[in-house]
Amino acid sequence: MDDFQAYTIDLLQQLLRFESITPQDAGIMRFIKEELEKLGFICTILEFSEKGEKPVLNLYARYGMQEPNLCFAGHLDVVPPGERAAWKYPPFAGHLQDGTIYGRGAVDMKGAVASFIGAAKGLINDNKFKGSLSILLTGDEEGDAINGTNKVLGWLEGREEKLDACIVGEPTAEVFAGDTIKVGRRGSANFKLIIEGTQGHVAYPEKANNPVHHLVSILQALQSTKLDDGTKFFTPSQLQITTIDVGNPTSNIIPDKAAASFNIRFNELHTAAQINNWVSSICDKQNCHYTLNISCNSHPFISAPGKLCETAIEVCREVLLREPILSTSGGTSDARFIHRYCETIELGLCNAMAHKVDECVEMDSIFTLILLYNQIMRKYFQLPTT
Ligand SMILES: [Zn+2]
Repeated sequence: MDDFQAYTIDLLQQLLRFESITPQDAGIMRFIKEELEKLGFICTILEFSEKGEKPVLNLYARYGMQEPNLCFAGHLDVVPPGERAAWKYPPFAGHLQDGTIYGRGAVDMKGAVASFIGAAKGLINDNKFKGSLSILLTGDEEGDAINGTNKVLGWLEGREEKLDACIVGEPTAEVFAGDTIKVGRRGSANFKLIIEGTQGHVAYPEKANNPVHHLVSILQALQSTKLDDGTKFFTPSQLQITTIDVGNPTSNIIPDKAAASFNIRFNELHTAAQINNWVSSICDKQNCHYTLNISCNSHPFISAPGKLCETAIEVCREVLLREPILSTSGGTSDARFIHRYCETIELGLCNAMAHKVDECVEMDSIFTLILLYNQIMRKYFQLPTT
C-alpha cells in the first residue's frame, strides 16, 4: 500500500463511522472540511433549508484559482442501515476484514469521496498543475434532494464561480470500478390510476359497472404498447406495473373501485407531459370514470460527451485494458442538476452492494478508483500520466 492508498483507506474508515443517515449530518461535513483544509482547499459550508424542514449542510471546496475547474460531486448522507443485528459487522464501525471495508455508505458513496480526496492529495503533492480542483459535497442526496446540490449550484452561479467539468462519484460500475461511465439518466414518472365503477351483484353485471375490467383493459393497452426503440445512449422506455389494488374480499360483489400504480422509465425522446398525455389518451379510450395522478421529479437528460468523458474513456481503457461502457441506466442522481452547468460524467464503485445489508467495498476497488481519478485529473490538466 502506498501513502495515498493508506491515507484513503483511513479516511474512508473515519467517514463510515459518522452516522450520517439522511438528512442527519452527525458532524461529517465539518470533519471533511478540516481534512480538505489540511490539503490546501478553501472550504465553505453551506446550510440550506426550506420552511419547516431540518437544515442540510453542504460543502464547496476549491484548490487553486486557475481555470479549468474540474469538480468532483458527491454525497455524504447514507440510507438507514435497516436491522442492525442483521449486519455481519456494525454498519457504522468502518470495520476492515480480509481486505474488505464494511459499512453503510461504503460504495454509495463515501468510498468514492475518499478515493477522490486520496487522488487529489496525490496530484497536489507532486505537481504544480494549471487549473483548479473543486469538491461539492451534499448531505441531501438520499433524501428529497431539495436542500443539496441544486442549491449549491445556484449559490456558485451567484458568485460567478464556474465549473468546467464534473465527475459524480455515484456507484455506476456493473462489476468493477471503471467498467461503466454514465453520461445521462432516464426520466422516471410514477402514476396512480383509480377507476370508479358501480357496485353490484356478480350475477347481474348489466346492473353494475365493473371497474376491474376497465382497469385490466387499460393496463393491458399501456403495457403492450412499445414506446420507442431506444436511442444511441438510451435503452427503450419501459413501463412497469407496481401494484393493482381492489381489496375485494367477497366472491359475489362487483366492487365500485379499482386502482393501480405503475412507473415509466423514459428516454430523451419523450417529456413527462407527453408521457402523461399518452397515458391519459389510453384511459380516455376505455370510456370509464377515472382519476390519474402523475409525479415526476426526474427528467431524462444526456450530457454530451466532451473533453472530460474522452479523458475518462482513455484512462479506463489504459488502466483496465478494456473499453468502458457509456450508459444512462439506473436511478436518479445529482448529475441531473449538474449537467445544466457543465459536462458531467458519473464514475464510481460497483453498485451491487448499494443500500444492502453488509454494504462493503474491497480495498482493491478503492485502489483502482484512486488510480482512475488521479489519472483523469492528470490527463485533464495535461500532465504526464504515470
Ligand atoms: Zn448515492
